[in-house]
Amino acid sequence: MSEFRAGSVAQVSYLDELVDAGLLTRTGVHGVYARGGAFEHVRLAFDSLVTRAAAAETPEPLYFPPILPREQLETSGYLGSFPHLAGTVFGFEGDEQAASDQLELATRHEDWSGFQHMTDMVLAPAACYPLYPAAAKRGPLPEGGLTLDTGDAFVFRREPSTDPARMQIFHMREIVRIGDRETVLAWRGEWRSRAEELLRSLELELELDVASDPFFGRVGRLLAAQQRDQELKWELLAPVAGDKPTAIASSNYHQDHFGLTYDLKTADGEPAHTGCMAFGEERVTLALFSAHGLDVNEWPSSVREKLELR
Ligand code: AMP
Ligand code: ZN
Repeated sequence: MSEFRAGSVAQVSYLDELVDAGLLTRTGVHGVYARGGAFEHVRLAFDSLVTRAAAAETPEPLYFPPILPREQLETSGYLGSFPHLAGTVFGFEGDEQAASDQLELATRHEDWSGFQHMTDMVLAPAACYPLYPAAAKRGPLPEGGLTLDTGDAFVFRREPSTDPARMQIFHMREIVRIGDRETVLAWRGEWRSRAEELLRSLELELELDVASDPFFGRVGRLLAAQQRDQELKWELLAPVAGDKPTAIASSNYHQDHFGLTYDLKTADGEPAHTGCMAFGEERVTLALFSAHGLDVNEWPSSVREKLELR
């Protein structure tokens, strides 16, 4: 088995409880689970709550599969910042002899990567990534910019762990704003209180904090410090297991990075600024089960009503 990050005692025992209760089922790969009915019911109820919270700004739904064209990963800068998290898609290209050699190695669980070739796809590491090039292809933004909704998108990050809150594949729901700087910053400010209210209404113990991404390597440490100094990322954290709270939602401001990368322009012809509000749906669900117990029927009626759980 490949290397993984060990969860704390509290995290590992919360995972055991979730599995015993049938909320999650292990697959044999750390951080990859099947979701049971009650877990999924709560996750989808939360997803609908986000839909209601965003309804006033009528975001345009743009739902991508959990795959990105490889070229987008190559141009977005992701491989520079997070080479350790990226997941790629390879496929077999070869003759019958190669197929049988591959099978022989695979049957013995030995390394058969020599028969695999890079395809033109990678796994999507964030729900909002495919939206920027898609918006750019439409030409300059309309007056006032665009607000988009990713839906509950599966995303992949290569971070195997025995902490149930650190999955390798999970649902991210993002509302994305594209426009000029002032528009995006004002929108981000509004979502800061809206997201906090939304999660507080579920009676979660919340903390809001300026944050940074796990950039790779030495240069990465500088990037993370810059991101913090400029307050480009903030997170809402809630208890899941153990003493340290976990980020269940985050907001990112990319400045004009995607505008410049994809030649995405405002109605005035300036490089667009972009920001996104992301909810980690499995983490929110895990925080809810942690706060209110593993049996949804026993949850406070206020929380059940808010989520319209029946
Ligand atoms: P990020 O793009 O890193 O800000 O992630 C957006 C949201 O996804 C975070 O606020 C978390 O709630 C969630 N998230 C990030 N990484 C993971 C993970 N490994 N497992 C589960 N949820 C995650
Ligand atoms: Zn995003």
